[in-house]
Amino acid sequence: MSGRRDLVLAIDQGTTGTRAFVMDRTGTLLGSAYREFRQFFPRPGQVEHDPEEIWTSVLGTVEECLQAAGRPFERLAAVGITNQRETTVVWDRSTGRALAPAIVWQDRRTSERCAELKRLGHEEEIRRRTGLVLDPYFSATKLEWLLDRHPDWRDRARAGEIAFGTIDSWVVFRLTGGEVHATDHTNASRTMLYSLDDGDWDPWLCELFGVPRAMLPEIRPSAGDFGRTRSDLIGAEVPIAGVAGDQQAALYGQGCWDEGEAKNTYGTGAFLLLNAGKTRGADVPGVLTTAACDRRGGRAFAYEGAVLVAGAAIQWLRDGLGLLEDAAESEAMARSVESSGGVYFVPALTGLGTPWWEPDVRGTIVGLSRGTGREHLVRAAVEAMAYSTGDVLSAMTRETDARLRSLRADGGAARNDWLMQFQADVLGVPVRRPAATELTALGAAGLAGLHTSVWSEPEEFLAARGEEAVFEPATDKSDSVNDGVQGWRRAVETAIHWARIGDLEEA
Ligand code: ADP
Repeated sequence: MSGRRDLVLAIDQGTTGTRAFVMDRTGTLLGSAYREFRQFFPRPGQVEHDPEEIWTSVLGTVEECLQAAGRPFERLAAVGITNQRETTVVWDRSTGRALAPAIVWQDRRTSERCAELKRLGHEEEIRRRTGLVLDPYFSATKLEWLLDRHPDWRDRARAGEIAFGTIDSWVVFRLTGGEVHATDHTNASRTMLYSLDDGDWDPWLCELFGVPRAMLPEIRPSAGDFGRTRSDLIGAEVPIAGVAGDQQAALYGQGCWDEGEAKNTYGTGAFLLLNAGKTRGADVPGVLTTAACDRRGGRAFAYEGAVLVAGAAIQWLRDGLGLLEDAAESEAMARSVESSGGVYFVPALTGLGTPWWEPDVRGTIVGLSRGTGREHLVRAAVEAMAYSTGDVLSAMTRETDARLRSLRADGGAARNDWLMQFQADVLGVPVRRPAATELTALGAAGLAGLHTSVWSEPEEFLAARGEEAVFEPATDKSDSVNDGVQGWRRAVETAIHWARIGDLEEA
């Protein structure tokens, strides 16, 4: 192997921390590192990061993981970057310094502006152009907020002095010593300034939000050329060859690059993406349409949805009610009973996400009887993860040409075998769970390594995913599963009804 560049460095710049790892072409991890950084909450609803601290955490984790790998600088073939999406950074091009704190995707400071845009009747047009719902989540209103508060920034931006970027662009700009100001389609599609149909910045949206085009990064394919790292920064001059937003990188890392393949990350909440192929399909109410990657990192489309409370329901039964000591016990408890005994738990502790988007709905337990024990309640909470995932996927496939062929699972709660089997039964398609846990970083590594010929076909890097456990849908339980799904739907309607009659009484 001597003289061969065969290693990929992946940087996963997440919301609470930055992770970096080096892997070889067999998928073996040679070194990894992780660092947290500070979260700032200047006012209720506001969340900020310090872009300089993010940059320091990137440099620090890269140095540490290369150190752990024995400083293999001459073997580095490519760098791949994946990142928290939508978070908004503005910087001075000549000094490379950030001009304001980064406004994080969770930040709600532009809620009022979004409500105003709705009143002005822009919601539908924005949806048509971007595939997104009008919400503070996305970058455009955050950037507009910053520009409105700094009267000279728009002129300076037009003069090419000031740049905007999501975290990927910020890291690329810094890693290349200010040479490259670029982003990829997946990140661009989360800014609310990007036309999904054209695959480029949308002049109408730039006008609406008062964003000078000159401050926007160039949009490149996710497996593409993003310049070279400066050797004085990371010890080697290496092409940055893969960039994708975290959820899309996870979709890619899971190998879901063909139409009909979906991934679900079962964590605190659950994040689901379904690859919808190379052409944009119909929009689905309550579901985002977004850019994703095809098998070689070219542009594809995906539907995206979120279940707001998934594993957090188990956490609540553990910490709030003390029904179990450890989340992992939920598996044995779910198995220990024949069924949930008619109990349904809609864990809408923070409202309902896709496809309902009902922020005022609260957690609801129905069907209790004298025979209900804690095992039934725990089982109902585990079942709820599978049912709500089913709801998201059926919303995506019901009124579109999209189909679901298989689901790939990751995240903490995906370790629960009983859940995985039940999920397969509910969906009627196989559920596959890889051995690897860092699917996001793996996706970024895959994109970068594919573009630099570390791998010639994407299948080759999937070795890094490790062996998959496959849960095939049962053929003989369909009646009880259908009854369960019906019961769940009634329970969700009950929860929504309870919130709505509250509204009626107030009116
Ligand atoms: P996040 O990245 O969102 O913090 P993780 O992917 O680490 O979350 O997953 C942790 C969540 O998964 C917790 O909410 C926990 O309750 C749940 N969880 C962990 N293990 C299990 C299990 N074996 N069965 C069910 N839920 C689990």
